[in-house]
Amino acid sequence: MSVSENVSAKSRQLMTELQSAGLRLADPRAGAASRRGGAGPSDHKAVTVDGVTIMVPVHTSSAWNSPFVASEPDETGASALMRGTIPIASISFPKQPRFYAMQTLDGVPYSHIATLHSADVLATTVLQTCIRYESRRKTCKFCAIGQSLAAGRTIAHKTPEQLAEVARAAVLLDGVKHMVLTTGTPPTPDRGAQVLCESAFAIRAAVDLPIQAQCEPPDDDRWFERMKASGVDTLGMHLEAVTPGVRERIMPGKASVPLARYMNAFNAAVSVFGRGQVNTYILAGLGDSAAAILDASRELIATGVYPFVVPFVPISGTPLEDHPAPSPEFMKSVLIPLGAMLREAGMRSADIKAGCAKCGACSSLSSYEE
Ligand code: SF4
Repeated sequence: MSVSENVSAKSRQLMTELQSAGLRLADPRAGAASRRGGAGPSDHKAVTVDGVTIMVPVHTSSAWNSPFVASEPDETGASALMRGTIPIASISFPKQPRFYAMQTLDGVPYSHIATLHSADVLATTVLQTCIRYESRRKTCKFCAIGQSLAAGRTIAHKTPEQLAEVARAAVLLDGVKHMVLTTGTPPTPDRGAQVLCESAFAIRAAVDLPIQAQCEPPDDDRWFERMKASGVDTLGMHLEAVTPGVRERIMPGKASVPLARYMNAFNAAVSVFGRGQVNTYILAGLGDSAAAILDASRELIATGVYPFVVPFVPISGTPLEDHPAPSPEFMKSVLIPLGAMLREAGMRSADIKAGCAKCGACSSLSSYEE
């Protein structure tokens, strides 16, 4: 079930609070292995609340101080969620996917090639290296793309053949419904578009699985046509922050690509992929005001881009590990009006063919579309 379906106001409130505060686990082994490090949001565990699976921070310093505690799961996988010592809901943890037990002929575990996100999304970082990450001065301060590589939990470059093999197994064994192909930014002007095309082409030749590709705006807008022709259904180009000062402070390397280039690229991409089939991650809590996020979202929606606003999660080992996560009140001050804007524009997470804004597990935004 997607986040937007049949979620009561009480569950929506609980999901927003859990994603801000994080969760302490009485049994850290509960459910599928959590993501530590890697590109984008990390240090989460998939948790099912009221039939909806969301990603909740569990390894962050704010999670250690969270008022929410999950009891040890019983034999059915159900766990009592407590606020302090008071049980407030029953939750469960999606099980370890079956494809994690497999490996390629040359001995690479499938879980080092792609991972299960939420309950039914296969996700991979095709290139686990990034020009932005290679310099302390330029790195995006929230990002942990190099951590999982350094820890030997992934490989630097997933080949198209490896991705196709794992995608096929994840569909057959675990019923995954769509796939996210993200990438670190290589030092080439296409910004990774070429490698995303090659990956998508191989995956679509092996299995019928909707794909979202994610990269920085490439040098040439013709890459959008090429990505579509290779089997990419939706595109993510992630602003992360929307105010120039915040962009320069939080992601000094990536901020060298001006907002105006993102807006041009969004326009061109929407004309290829369609209205609502292009999305952008915006991390709330990095310094942008609610008004700035809402102004940017209004412009994005008018362009046909779904602004996927997600609470920032301070990942251990990054320069922002001690930066506070946004409060539930701040998130609601963004998500309630943003949900209304999306509703008015007729843009719905459920209509997106693939990717983060369809999955919706990293933000309770889609529950505010109702
Ligand atoms: S929203 Fe994106 S990053 Fe978050 S769990 Fe879903 S696919 Fe993964």
